[in-house]
Amino acid sequence: MEFVEVREGLARILVPKAERIYDAPVFYNPVMALNRDVSVLAVKIIQPGKALDALSATGIRGIRYALETPTGEVWLNDISEEAFKLILRNVELNLGVEGKPVGEKRVAFEGEKRIVANLDDANRLMAENFRYFDFLDLDPFGSPVEFLDTALRSVKRRGVLAVTATDTGVLCGAYRNACLRKYLAEPIRGDLCHEAGLRILIGTVVRYAAKYDLGVDVLLAYYRDHYFRAFLRLKSGAKKADKSLSQLGYLWQDENGRFEYAEGFLPERPKAHGPLWLGPLKDGEFVERLVEAAREHPLAHRKTLPFVELLNEELDVPFLYDTHALARRNGLQARKLSDMIEILEGKGYKATRTHFSPKAIKTDAPIEKVLEALRVL
Ligand code: SAM
Repeated sequence: MEFVEVREGLARILVPKAERIYDAPVFYNPVMALNRDVSVLAVKIIQPGKALDALSATGIRGIRYALETPTGEVWLNDISEEAFKLILRNVELNLGVEGKPVGEKRVAFEGEKRIVANLDDANRLMAENFRYFDFLDLDPFGSPVEFLDTALRSVKRRGVLAVTATDTGVLCGAYRNACLRKYLAEPIRGDLCHEAGLRILIGTVVRYAAKYDLGVDVLLAYYRDHYFRAFLRLKSGAKKADKSLSQLGYLWQDENGRFEYAEGFLPERPKAHGPLWLGPLKDGEFVERLVEAAREHPLAHRKTLPFVELLNEELDVPFLYDTHALARRNGLQARKLSDMIEILEGKGYKATRTHFSPKAIKTDAPIEKVLEALRVL
């Protein structure tokens, strides 16, 4: 294997030389630097004692947690032997300490921080470390569902679970049967598919967590570059689980683009999409702090700061109006988002841009008022 060294945040990482990222024997995607930046900022704020990067590949994510956050103990795990060997090299390169074997498939680096590199199936590692981690990161190829049960047992009962899902085609309804199988949810296609996909993902974690009497608070959840990402704070207790479950519900959309949603364990009428999470997609204070941290931190991706600023400003209400789709469906001209926002605010409603789409707005105004704002000359 030939390597090149890349720099990301404070880390120096050896990555395999390859024509295309999916041809590389160990996975590294520079586009995901924004995902890792946001994660580093989140971990900096959460300040976990012990963190696990369960699906580590080159080790870059966990190494950044060790270098750029106060976390005292970071575990890096991968099932691939090639990845494990590379993780060992990358930890040495960045920490400047030599590792000591602890058993056959584990090496510990004891320096200012404790780093543990591990070669195993993530499910086995998590099952063996019951309620051990304060922060647990699942960053798989595709769906995280096959790791959810063990992750919810391995993270502490008031810990934070971070999940990435890259199976957007599944969660956004291009592969409906796969969504039924993996998420037990009916997806939606069209202008609401990304937000609904993210809410199906969160709803799935809420259902998995509920059986362990765990509730879920969303610290931050977003869609970007064909993946979903959620940081979820667990809360211990049957009542907390009941409360989170009660925030699941269903979405309906008619052919004119009008949508409705309602909480409920079962859908109250046919043609429902879900179950999906109808609660908040962010904790306002957490995202404020994320933006403050982003202004000071040496970030790897130039779009990280504007992106977290956009997330911070976004109105947190379920679902959005794609102004182009709405105009087309109703025989109207689309107009500038800034004008739409100004018109709706002038009428006393809240309205903002949304990270889900550059053509959409979020507002607490009813659809009639949004259509009026499209019609105003
Ligand atoms: N987190 C990495 C980053 O930020 O660059 C990327 C991780 S990559 C998308 C997914 C990794 O999961 C691959 O390196 C793969 O070898 C590993 N993997 C797949 N199945 C696994 C399993 N059951 N247990 C542990 N690792 C696994």
